Amino acid sequence: MALYNKYRPQAFSEVISHEAVKRTLLKALEEGSLAQAIILMGPRGVGKTTIARLIAKSLNCQSPKAGEPCLNCYSCQAIAQGSHLDVVEIDAASNRGIDEIRELKEKIKNLPVLGKKKVYIIDEVHMLTKEAFNALLKTLEEPPSHIVFIMATTEAHKVPSTILSRAQRFQLKPARAADLKTAIYKIASLEKIAITDEALDYLADMAEGSFRDALSLLEQLQSYAQGREIDKELLLKALAIPDYAIIIQLFEDILQQERSRFIARLNQLFSGEYNFEVTAKLWLKIFKELLILSFLRSKEELSGLRFAEKLFPFVGKFPYSKLVSLAEELLNTIQIAKNQSEASLPFILFGLKVYQELTADFSSRSSQIENSLSKEELNSKNIVKNSGQKEANQGLLKQEQKKDLDPPASNDNLSWSDFLRSLAKTHTTLFTLLKDAEIEITSQKVRIFHQFSFHRKRLKDLKTRRLLEEILSSYYQKELIVEIIEESPTKLSHPSEEDREVVDDETFENTVIEVFELGV
Ligand SMILES: [Zn+2]
Repeated sequence: MALYNKYRPQAFSEVISHEAVKRTLLKALEEGSLAQAIILMGPRGVGKTTIARLIAKSLNCQSPKAGEPCLNCYSCQAIAQGSHLDVVEIDAASNRGIDEIRELKEKIKNLPVLGKKKVYIIDEVHMLTKEAFNALLKTLEEPPSHIVFIMATTEAHKVPSTILSRAQRFQLKPARAADLKTAIYKIASLEKIAITDEALDYLADMAEGSFRDALSLLEQLQSYAQGREIDKELLLKALAIPDYAIIIQLFEDILQQERSRFIARLNQLFSGEYNFEVTAKLWLKIFKELLILSFLRSKEELSGLRFAEKLFPFVGKFPYSKLVSLAEELLNTIQIAKNQSEASLPFILFGLKVYQELTADFSSRSSQIENSLSKEELNSKNIVKNSGQKEANQGLLKQEQKKDLDPPASNDNLSWSDFLRSLAKTHTTLFTLLKDAEIEITSQKVRIFHQFSFHRKRLKDLKTRRLLEEILSSYYQKELIVEIIEESPTKLSHPSEEDREVVDDETFENTVIEVFELGV
């Protein structure tokens, strides 16, 4: 039996975390004031089904104490074995149609066979069809007094508000890492699995608040270890994740401006040895803790932070706002990479950006240049510098189109940032390559400049360019030729000042290409 099922809590007192939810439920169960429709909302593996079954148990128990089921009566035991006739579990994912709900409507007229209440647990309720929801709603409006509906969902926003408003709602949060650690430790001891404290930390992290994930990882490690103690090294190897110290060293490389070391480490992290997504999430966690530390600027209240000691030396070394936007970008990159065949690329590009962004302020000169290029100047030169999807740029671009392109009226609202947004959904690699590019649109051409030669080389690739032309032409509904230019359109006015920076970038980028053997 899977550990998760073997150690599923049989009473509310055994449930770890969710204190407020437990208190409210126990009180309502004791007073008999529980609503007839309940919805448990929360991420996967946090204990929704467990709590639903506990409610069913308490409702049907012959001698409950202060809301807790006795665990001894035939009803408690039947529910524990999953054989109670009055507790029906329905998986909405596979019974999502109106027929199932109609059948349910017929069935609920029957009185409980054994217990006091007939309890319907509808798992993943958001999966029901619209018709099924309507049928369910009618039932929820006037349920027979012997019926209790317990709905569970990971995606409450997909449940119609009419259903939500008729149910007593409980939000279950992901378990705290410390609680997960305690729970895993306890079960590991019972199962005689030897695991070190450091390995427990990683495991609790990897589980992302889910008890089910934590225990299935423990099982995976148990079978990998074959009786050996599970320590950090074994865990990292078994789960293909890097030591977090490698990621923290990236910040050290940035601080020391050690480009080649930074790139070598980035390559090590995303070469395929480790799971990209898990590695990126670990990086995100480190970003998050660095942000919290930078915000607090003290080590005092840091008991909850795992990397506080290691990260504290970096506090105040990087601009807070840049860390925030990079963390946001990493979050997006994780999403983008999910749909990519070449999944390491987005992370490598992201890594380069981190280096570039965080070292940019080390030389104040380059930032002065950037500041001197005010929006008005850009506008007067008919140049759009695109940075992400900022509304200001969108406005600017619209102006551009009106002035220079004179597009058909129907195309008026097609701005570059809208184009990028739609590209992000269909062609993630192209989107990644283009999102920080500078764009100049003329009547027949889209001229593209990217500050990284790495990106330029990839964009110049004939197949890539043809594809982009095709997409652009169909989006703007006219023939457009793509030209990748070697010089920033905005740079023309300040050639001498920026020359040295660009040379540096070239060296940097060439090293990158050598290391990764990507691009051309
Ligand atoms: Zn009982």
